[in-house]
Amino acid sequence: MHYIEPHAHMVSRTTDDYQKMAQAGCRAICEPAFWAGFDRGSVEGFRDYYRQLTEYEPARAAKFGIPHFTWLCINPKEAEDVGFGHEVVSIIPEFLDKPTVLGIGEIGLNKNTRNEQVILEEQIGLALEHDLPILVHTPHLEDKLKGTRLIVDAMKNAQVNPDRVIIDHIEEHTARIVLDAGFWAGMTLYPESKCTPARAIDILETFGMERIWMNSACDWGISDPLAVVKCALEMKKRHHAEAVVQKVIFDNPKTFLSQSPNFQL
Ligand SMILES: [Zn+2]
Repeated sequence: MHYIEPHAHMVSRTTDDYQKMAQAGCRAICEPAFWAGFDRGSVEGFRDYYRQLTEYEPARAAKFGIPHFTWLCINPKEAEDVGFGHEVVSIIPEFLDKPTVLGIGEIGLNKNTRNEQVILEEQIGLALEHDLPILVHTPHLEDKLKGTRLIVDAMKNAQVNPDRVIIDHIEEHTARIVLDAGFWAGMTLYPESKCTPARAIDILETFGMERIWMNSACDWGISDPLAVVKCALEMKKRHHAEAVVQKVIFDNPKTFLSQSPNFQL
């Protein structure tokens, strides 16, 4: 089996995780910028984080033979202070020429506040200005449905080409909104919260295998860096053909990510 892990926060993982992912057939890891398990206290904290994502983490992954790519942004969890958010966004262009940067992400909403929306719109503008694809984080639990609708509206208002956008952390009640509007959809597999593998496969069987990917998110919380592989094995148990499994865990992410010229396997 070979697969792409299209959304993983490797800065919070150990080398053991890299080793296991390499052994399981991981051919590329993509790491969106997000919360790091703590709020950063300054713009310089973000500059260091962007250096970590564009310089140090690719070198760490390379030791295990896995290409590492990244997305840059300020995440919605730390974007409530609009002045601070604006300052952080202003340093992102310093890093956009780095060879492993794929686009802007994961931007989106956390608590669906007006301030978060201002920074979301600013970063959609940054992606359009630099002609980059976008990776979107949708809020959790009771905020997800409203947040997904607000995000889709923001993309439409900015006239973003939906082929160039993946909206992640979809669930049963948001998949249709995202796919019908022409966007790509991501499912995040978590052992506790979010989607379990069984739920994710139900979603695939309901909404189809087109324009959809699965990821493990594997971050600072309880999460499983091998979730995508485990879900693929579960798909085989449910008698999905090898080619279908391969499409979801390798071909689909490759197609979406290849819109960025920096994504080379
Ligand atoms: Zn994430």
